[in-house]
Amino acid sequence: MNVDNPGITAKKLQRIQRNAASHWVGNGFPVRSLFNYSEIGPQISPFLLFDYAGPVDFPPTDDRLGVGEHPHRGFETVTIVYSGEVEHRDSSGGGGKIGPGDVQWMTAASGIVHEEFHGQDYARKGGPFEMVQLWVNLPAKYKMSQPRYQSILDCQIPAVPLPGNQGTVRVIAGEFNGVKGPAKTFSPIHVWDMRIPGGQTITLTLTEGHSAVLAILKGSVSINESNFIREAEVAIFDQQGDYIRFNSEQDTTALLLSGRPLDEPIAGSGPFVMNTAEEIRQAKIDYQSGKMGHLAS
Ligand code: MN
Repeated sequence: MNVDNPGITAKKLQRIQRNAASHWVGNGFPVRSLFNYSEIGPQISPFLLFDYAGPVDFPPTDDRLGVGEHPHRGFETVTIVYSGEVEHRDSSGGGGKIGPGDVQWMTAASGIVHEEFHGQDYARKGGPFEMVQLWVNLPAKYKMSQPRYQSILDCQIPAVPLPGNQGTVRVIAGEFNGVKGPAKTFSPIHVWDMRIPGGQTITLTLTEGHSAVLAILKGSVSINESNFIREAEVAIFDQQGDYIRFNSEQDTTALLLSGRPLDEPIAGSGPFVMNTAEEIRQAKIDYQSGKMGHLAS
């Protein structure tokens, strides 16, 4: 029992992921992978992967920077832009350009091919680029459903104050303090984009049994005054318990991800995440035989 919250228990800090390896996705996205299901799948379910691109300054260019036609099946890609612009086109007819504060929630489900590039207007001017791409797993029964594309603009995302002027939570998915986010999801998920001034003790009420991940993009936080989580680091909490608490050591931008674990086997290979090795073999065959479609030229 916690003195300040009688009758409810904290989700304990389970691990901190540091020193994320970096790599380039195409020629446009210098990415650090803050977590990946291959190491810690059950603890972070239904989330699979967290790629943090930038922050980096790109010089002005007329080149197309990014990654060309490639497939996905079995999950959703969620792209959150902080700086710069991303243009996307997919074989289901979805597409568009998103800029700072906007989110693209793409449900690959039975399969799409798509391309992801810097927005042309941004590329010509150059400047700061920063974005996050999450992979969110689909429950087995939805993995072969119709692809779907949600373009969510900054103005559609409610910004909810943390009680006591402790900052702001942009509710991308799920709910915070009774305010619902715009993203439609296939299982219970919260995605909160938080801005927190330094020197605050933040308590976030979550759900017993749900996974909880705190990713720091800017600034730093501490947990129990001893565990420090800094830029491009991630705290993973136990699923048991119903709140987390941390202190902001400075002005901080962080993403809080929480959701009900799917509790289903994960079989993944590159751009496909299914439940069995046989389904992965089938995904490769279906992509190669054109069943996931192609981009209109
Ligand atoms: Mn992709």
